[in-house]
This record gives sequence, structure tokens and C-alpha cells, in this order.
Amino acid sequence: IGNLGDMTLRALSVLVRAERTYCEDTRHSLKLFNHYGIRSALKAYHDHNADRVRPRILKELDEGLSVALVSDAGTPLISDPGFKLAGSAIDAGHTIISLPGPTAPIAALTSSGLPTDNFQFLGFLPSKTGARRERISSLRDAESALIFFEAPGRLSAALKDCYDILGDRRAVVARELTKMHEEVRRGSLSELGRWAETHKIKGEIVLIIAPGEPRQITDEEILVMLERELEPQSLKQAARDIAEELGVSRNRVYELGLKHLRKK
Ligand code: SAM
Repeated sequence: IGNLGDMTLRALSVLVRAERTYCEDTRHSLKLFNHYGIRSALKAYHDHNADRVRPRILKELDEGLSVALVSDAGTPLISDPGFKLAGSAIDAGHTIISLPGPTAPIAALTSSGLPTDNFQFLGFLPSKTGARRERISSLRDAESALIFFEAPGRLSAALKDCYDILGDRRAVVARELTKMHEEVRRGSLSELGRWAETHKIKGEIVLIIAPGEPRQITDEEILVMLERELEPQSLKQAARDIAEELGVSRNRVYELGLKHLRKK
């Protein structure tokens, strides 16, 4: 993702043998190829020519050629070109194999110290404030860690919006991973926000936010729902529906319902 040494041995052996190799920027990938002494020609496949070039690549696959796709850095298709190409190739009956290797969201997560058992990768947040805040709000109840790509110029605003909407959760800013100025900064959203506001932040960034504490449901909240739900249906059915909606045990709702009915 930022270091020529991140390349895997298997990726090198495939690139040496591939009959066609497509990349985002030929000049950029040429540096990688020169470094490893790979002599094959590079052709461009990027957002601006993809619709035009894709049929040609599919034709090459139909002719039986082996075609490789690389991105400027990290794993192709992860916020990089290739998704439509892979889909079309699969639809046409071709075999797609992934060459697992470095990718910024996973490198950031595994150096973050945050729980890794449940996470969502969400790509870039919208750049406009309204849309960004809406997206963050939609993630408020997620039980997973949230992984975003962020541009350095927008980091401070994104951290502030996350703090406003999600509260002061633990978070990590992973910057320039595997490069000379690698930095993994851990703290609360408010601490990181203050740091981002008062420093000139440069480089490539992954932002990770820890999951929120699960909300504690009070007996009063359950009772309000029981009032509403008990009229049209039995206690058993109401307890089942409410338990599912609030994420609490059916037994707890049922017992509260019984007490409630006895008082009536
Ligand atoms: N396909 C790439 C991958 O698998 O890592 C991601 C491409 S995406 C267009 C580029 C974004 O990834 C950057 O803006 C940054 O948010 C993140 N990124 C890429 N390299 C990074 C690095 N070395 N350190 C931190 N973030 C990085």
C-alpha cells in the first residue's frame, strides 16, 4: 500500500507470467515493475477509460489470454477500479483469482488495537457536510467498528461530525501506513479532533471508530411499548414483538407485562 516490499511473492510470480497486465496509471506501476525486473507491457484501465477498454479485456480473456489487474497501491477493487470488470468476466464464465495482499483498511484495523471481530468498511465519507452527517447518523446503531478512508484536508471536519453524532468513542487515525512517515494515532474522537484541528495533517489516512456501547433499555421504555401493544394482541405475542424490536429477552418483557396487567 505504500512500500514496494509489501508486494507478495505470489503476486510477483503471477505478474511475471501474465500475458496482459492492466493498471490504473502505467507510469506509476512501471516503477513497481522496474523494481522487480518485470518486463511485460502495462496497459491502462481506470475510471475514465474503463467502459471503452473493458470489452477489449473480455475479448482477450475469451481468446484464452491470462490477464492481470493491479492498482496504484493496495488491492484492486477496494475503492479502486475493477469491480465491473471482475463481474463481467465472471458473467462471461472466466475464472477470477485474487492475489491476497496489502490493503489499507485491514492494515489500519490490525494496527489499531480496536476489536477486529466485527467491522464495516465504508470507503470514503461524502465530502459535503450534510451528506456526511447523514451517513454517520445512519451508522449510529452499528455494533461493528467503522472503517473509513479520509482525505487529510477533511479529517478534522469528519472527526468533529463523528464526535457530534456518535459521542466520544475510541478511534484511530492510521496515516501513511507502511511508508516512511507511518503514524497510528489512538485516542477518543474529541482528542483526535483537537489534534487534527491544530496540526497540518498530510498523507493517506484511514479512520477507524470503535463500536458504541449497546444502549441499555429501561423498564419504563418496555412498559410504554406494552401499553401500546397489549390492546390488540395477547401478552405472549406482544412480548415476542417487543423483545425483538428492542433487543431484550422475551422473558423480561413477559414478566413486566404480567406485573403491569396485575396492577390494572
Ligand atoms: N485499493 C487501495 C487499498 O487496497 O488499500 C485503496 C485505494 S483508495 C483510492 C485510496 C485511499 O486508501 C487513500 O485515500 C487512503 O484513505 C487509503 N490509503 C491508501 N494507502 C494508505 C496508506 N498507506 N496509509 C493510510 N491510508 C491509505
